[in-house]
Amino acid sequence: MTIFEEALKGNITKEMLHIAEIERVEVKKLIKKISKGEVVIMKRESFKPVGIGFPLRTKINVNLGTSSSAINLSEEFKKVEIAQKYGADTLSDLSMGGNIDAIRKRVLEISSVPITTVPIYQAIIEADSVSNVSEDLIFKVIEKQIKDGISSIVIHTGFSLETLNKMKGKRIMKIVSKGGSLTASVMKSNEVENPFKKNFEYIIELAKEHDIVINLGNAMRSGCIHDKMDEFQLSEIKINNKLAKKANKKGVQAILESLGGHIEANDIIKWVKKHKKLTNNRPLFVSGPLPIDIGTGYDHIVATVGGAFASGFGADYICAITPAEHLCLPSLDDIKNGLIACKIAAHIGDSMKFGLNHLFNNDLKLSKNRFLKKWKNQFECCIDPNEPKKRHLDSEEICTMCGNHCALSISKEIL
Ligand code: SF4
Repeated sequence: MTIFEEALKGNITKEMLHIAEIERVEVKKLIKKISKGEVVIMKRESFKPVGIGFPLRTKINVNLGTSSSAINLSEEFKKVEIAQKYGADTLSDLSMGGNIDAIRKRVLEISSVPITTVPIYQAIIEADSVSNVSEDLIFKVIEKQIKDGISSIVIHTGFSLETLNKMKGKRIMKIVSKGGSLTASVMKSNEVENPFKKNFEYIIELAKEHDIVINLGNAMRSGCIHDKMDEFQLSEIKINNKLAKKANKKGVQAILESLGGHIEANDIIKWVKKHKKLTNNRPLFVSGPLPIDIGTGYDHIVATVGGAFASGFGADYICAITPAEHLCLPSLDDIKNGLIACKIAAHIGDSMKFGLNHLFNNDLKLSKNRFLKKWKNQFECCIDPNEPKKRHLDSEEICTMCGNHCALSISKEIL
């Protein structure tokens, strides 16, 4: 039986027990949430499962993988190490360059967190051109990726040929999701309907065999803050929500990827709340969102602001955005900086969702140690303990910011 089917029957699996324990949620409550489709568990043979959805901590995904113009395998594999070292909950292998099968297998070998793929990427490369991508090829790719041991796939199901025809002449940035644009391009060049939506039942059967999570991709996200929430995004949310229900009916867990891309700051909270309502609190995965367009080179900071508010108001799973966003394949440093920024966003979001006393809150401990100038103890509470250690002088007492005129020392003396 799949995790979803076990939850429906009220059975407790080892994955549920693990998640209930580390997130300190009653297992009965967790089962109920899973059976309602509000929480999903991504699992991987021999490794710890990851739970996504309220009332669990906000989770973080890191994207890695080659592109057709940047293939540096050792660097991509090093990204796995860095992402895990700095606390990514899941990884997505988005490789489109080199031997994609071999890269995925290696990523699986050297990682211990759930791995997601986007099968349309590999189908496009194997077909050599979008017009050669057949439904059979898509199924073949999905099957082999699942068999290799991935935990989730992203498929862009929420639009039709009619959607694409209607979009002509509308929107500044059109479609900015890579998987979404590739799927759209397959549809337009062959004048066929969305292959993932059309064959959803069959894809669900494939997913069910290995109990993987279906991630319904966000093809219609807005690519700039002047492209507002529109009929295309709304219809994608509704279609994907229906498909998620269908997946659940067949015993398969589903996540909705939505509200990613660029969203005006004032709209983030409104739309996250509406999304959760429209989808009956299904797990929401967001990429960003970026509340401004002009932060290029610093988009990890822009995404921290958007991600914090998205997470605080209901997003359950956020994708790290690196400083290389819109520019190039991220470097190792970019991966680290993007991930730390995303962890900050998730932590702010969790403090809004669960309050200051939530389990993962080290802020109070840090403050007490900061006041006492217990530097080492203070740094251990930080999201990245290494950075403060690098900057602070060895001395136990002195911080050169105010030198001998430290407000904390003065306060301690007079108060
Ligand atoms: S020296 Fe200034 S910045 Fe440094 S700990 Fe004291 S008050 Fe804070």
